[in-house]
Amino acid sequence: MVIVMQAKATPEDVERVISRLKEAGFGVHLSEGTERTIIGALGGDRQALARQALEALPGVERVVPVLHPYKLVSREFKPEPTVVKVGDVAIGGTEVVVIAGPCAVESEEQILATARAVKAAGARILRGGAFKPRSSPYSFQGLGEDGLRLLALARAETGLPIVTEVLDVRTLETVAAQADMIQIGARNMQNFELLREVGMLKLPVLLKRGLSATIEEWLLAAEYIMREGNSQIVLCERGIRSFDTATRNTLDLAAVPLLHQLSHLPVIVDPSHATGKWHLVAPMSLAAVAAGADGLIIEVHPDPATALSDGPQSLTPERFAELMVRLRPVAQAVERTLATPSKP
Ligand code: PEP
Ligand code: MN
Repeated sequence: MVIVMQAKATPEDVERVISRLKEAGFGVHLSEGTERTIIGALGGDRQALARQALEALPGVERVVPVLHPYKLVSREFKPEPTVVKVGDVAIGGTEVVVIAGPCAVESEEQILATARAVKAAGARILRGGAFKPRSSPYSFQGLGEDGLRLLALARAETGLPIVTEVLDVRTLETVAAQADMIQIGARNMQNFELLREVGMLKLPVLLKRGLSATIEEWLLAAEYIMREGNSQIVLCERGIRSFDTATRNTLDLAAVPLLHQLSHLPVIVDPSHATGKWHLVAPMSLAAVAAGADGLIIEVHPDPATALSDGPQSLTPERFAELMVRLRPVAQAVERTLATPSKP
C-alpha cells in the first residue's frame, strides 16, 4: 500500500507513520516529491495494521492499496513521472530523446563515422553493442572489450553518452566501467540475477521488453531493479513475438500510453527491432512520438549492406537525418521538443 502524506505534514508525522509500518513488519520506501511525501509499504502484516488506523495518524491524507503485483514502479507509488539522467541528457522530461547508432560496434572507423553523423542530426545518446546476443552461435558476437573501448573513443570525440548491452553478470563490471547507461536486452529481461545486479549500480538502465513478455512481467522485471535501490530505469518497447512473420516483431504501440498510466518510468520505442525493416522505421518512429514515447532508439549504419548485424533494419545516416527533420513537428504537436541538429 501507499501512504500519501498531506502537503503540510511535518517530518515527525512522516517518522511516526514509518515507525508504525516497521513495527508491523513492512518494508518502507520513501518518495519525497516537491509537493508531498509518499510512503510505500511493502510486505508486512495487514492484520496488525489496519488501513483506518494509518489514516487516523496526523499528517496522513490517504492510504491507497496497490493492487498490482509490482509496487515501486507503479504510478500509485509515485504519481509524478521519473526523469532518468544519462550523462547530462534527461529522459522523461519535455524532450523526446533520440538514441542512435549501429546494432554492433564493428570498427573504429564505423563507430566514429556513425557517432559524428547521428550527433549532427540531433541524436543525444550513442548506442552500439559490444557484447551481442545473437540467435546463432556462428553469427558475429561483437568485439567485446574492444568494442567498449571504441565506444568510449566515440564518446570522447562527440560528447555523446553511450548505452550498451550487458549479457551476463560476469561482464557487468567491465561494461559498467565504460557505459553511461546499461542495456538489458529482450533476451535477458527475466535474467533475475542480472536484474538484481544492475539494481545495485548507480547507472541508469534501459530495460527492453522480453520477446514474449506481458506488460506485467516487464514491470515486474523493472521492480527487481528498483527493489535493489536503482530507480533510474527506462522501459523500451521493441516489439513482441506474434503469429505474423511479415515483420520481425509486432510493435505494441499501445504499450506506451498504457505504461505511462501504470508506471512513473519513462518509455521509449525501438522501431528497428520492432519491424526489422528500415523502411518501416520512419513511420513507426513518427507514430511512437505521437503516442507519447519519451524517446526512440534507432539503428544507424554508414553502410547497412555490409553491416555485421541487423543491416536490413538499419538507416543510413542520410535517412536518419531526414527522419529527425520529420519528427520535429510531431514532437511539437504533442507538446514535446526534439534536439536541433548541431552545426558542423
Ligand atoms: C539490440 O538493441 O541490439 C538488441 C539486441 O535488441 P533486443 O534485445 O531488443 O533484441
Ligand atoms: Mn540490433
